[in-house]
Amino acid sequence: MRPVIGITCAHDNELDRAYLNQFYVRAVEKAGGIPVLLPIVGDGVCLNQMVHMVDGLLFSGGADLDPLCFGQEPMNRLGEITPERDFFELELARQALGADLAILAICRGIQLINAAAGGTVYQDINSQVAHSIKHFQKAPRWYPTHRISIKPGSQLASILQSKEVRVNSFHHQAVADVASGFKVTAVAPDGVIEAIESENHKFVMGLQCHPECMWEKDETFLRVFKYFVEAGR
Ligand code: MN
Repeated sequence: MRPVIGITCAHDNELDRAYLNQFYVRAVEKAGGIPVLLPIVGDGVCLNQMVHMVDGLLFSGGADLDPLCFGQEPMNRLGEITPERDFFELELARQALGADLAILAICRGIQLINAAAGGTVYQDINSQVAHSIKHFQKAPRWYPTHRISIKPGSQLASILQSKEVRVNSFHHQAVADVASGFKVTAVAPDGVIEAIESENHKFVMGLQCHPECMWEKDETFLRVFKYFVEAGR
């Protein structure tokens, strides 16, 4: 049996509709997992059973995090938020961390997992990080526009077999204070946190870039998904 990987969905507030870019599905499928989409549910029993149904959880990208998730008031430059998704994913993340499920958290996901574990998030990089580089690229989704330095000895370093790679970038938020029990494993040239890992779980990794959009051009990034799916076994 292949590992079952639950993938959280984006949420359209206007149409009250769950949706997901197919990139995530293809990457999990190619890496040997069974992708299953997880919609927002409000019922605790339902959510708890979802956690037990899957071997791993992929937190996908999407809208901004409600600053309430990390105890702040909204700044002017905060973008659209999807509060029902936030409540659902925060609880999902807490239960998944408690169950030591394999977790890969991408873009919004890295911020979500950090907030779920008690960390904070920059609501808007441009107004909160001095001399920041461009983190919301206007380039094809697969194209890596900026460099990241990877911490030697981290799981990410052993997966990518490198101290430095170039990645794509589609975020205006980022991890600020890292949650306790997590360590920073990659940073951009401006110091913005690009990857974190849990120190207390078998595989809990957050990535600010979108490897699901890069692996078809650069197979290196497929290794992230393979490692994640294997960790779910
Ligand atoms: Mn970036």
